[in-house]
Amino acid sequence: MSQPIEFTLSCPIPISDYPAIQLAHGGGGRLMNQLITGMFAVAFRNPLLDQRHDASAIDWPAGARRLAFTTDSCVVHPLFFPGGDIGKLAVFGTANDLAMAGARPAWLSAGFILEEGLPMETLWRVVQSMSAAAAETGAQIVTGDTKVVDRGKCDGIFINTSGVGIIGHDLVIAPSSVREGDAVLISGDVGRHGMAIMAEREGLSFESSITSDCAPLASSVMALLDAGITPHCLRDLTRGGLASALNEIARDSGMEIVIDEKSVAVSEEVRGACEIFGFDPLYVANEGRFTAFVPEPQAAKTLARLKAQPGGSDAAIIGRVKKGSAGLVTLKSAIGAMRILDMLSGEQLPRIC
Ligand code: MG
Repeated sequence: MSQPIEFTLSCPIPISDYPAIQLAHGGGGRLMNQLITGMFAVAFRNPLLDQRHDASAIDWPAGARRLAFTTDSCVVHPLFFPGGDIGKLAVFGTANDLAMAGARPAWLSAGFILEEGLPMETLWRVVQSMSAAAAETGAQIVTGDTKVVDRGKCDGIFINTSGVGIIGHDLVIAPSSVREGDAVLISGDVGRHGMAIMAEREGLSFESSITSDCAPLASSVMALLDAGITPHCLRDLTRGGLASALNEIARDSGMEIVIDEKSVAVSEEVRGACEIFGFDPLYVANEGRFTAFVPEPQAAKTLARLKAQPGGSDAAIIGRVKKGSAGLVTLKSAIGAMRILDMLSGEQLPRIC
């Protein structure tokens, strides 16, 4: 079952004349030019892209102290799932990584690998979705590239996006800034993206009402910074979920993190799906959730700001940073027992982003 997407403008090229991507389109021919530049240039329109040059020349942005730069490749299967699609993920994935450095997402690149036979209609839906997602994050897609490969050499569409964000402050938001006593917060409930994909793949989406949490995070981070909060570390809870993010931060900060399991919200539907598929929701991927490490005196204010964000009603203070054993994440279970929350030892769900 695919998500209905609202088309905001009609496709600038006649899709009925070119029903599917053909290998010949990848050769830089006239038809490819017509299709791709016609489609992309219209959907992503902005003054930098309109330069139509090999690279976008960008003026140094006013108020920038530093820039953040990151990249992400998206190979999610299926291309459309409840709550999102590959285009949205490709844009939000990169924009959210920029936000985790305390940066405001500003410019993105989009690199497409298309499989011969891909319906043009599908590409247009994805492009529309990316356009809407970019507008939502406040970023512009200012450069791009398209390649076509033979049938069977990729699964419909793969998308790489890179992004540059503007850092307007001097904070070092990174694991190395985490300090003993820091409060650990999360921005909402966990496990929805991974379980939405699983339910869709297994054909259970009919009975399941789980939608991906796929969402932009920069406005939440900017709300914290604007409130004078000085986060020590931020990380989005993508592949490997909350448990993996906390383990990485514990390892890279040389601190111990102690978490209270019952403070982590997991919806009934996600909990049920996790039981069916045998997953621990703490290890399941999210695409619109992050953890924030802040000085303890700022914990209550941070929580209030996170709760005020869209989708933030389940934001919570979930734990503390201790000197303790460097690199360890300890979980106090719902019944009060302490256990170590390890890095995921088995296989992570493949192709969820
Ligand atoms: Mg990340």
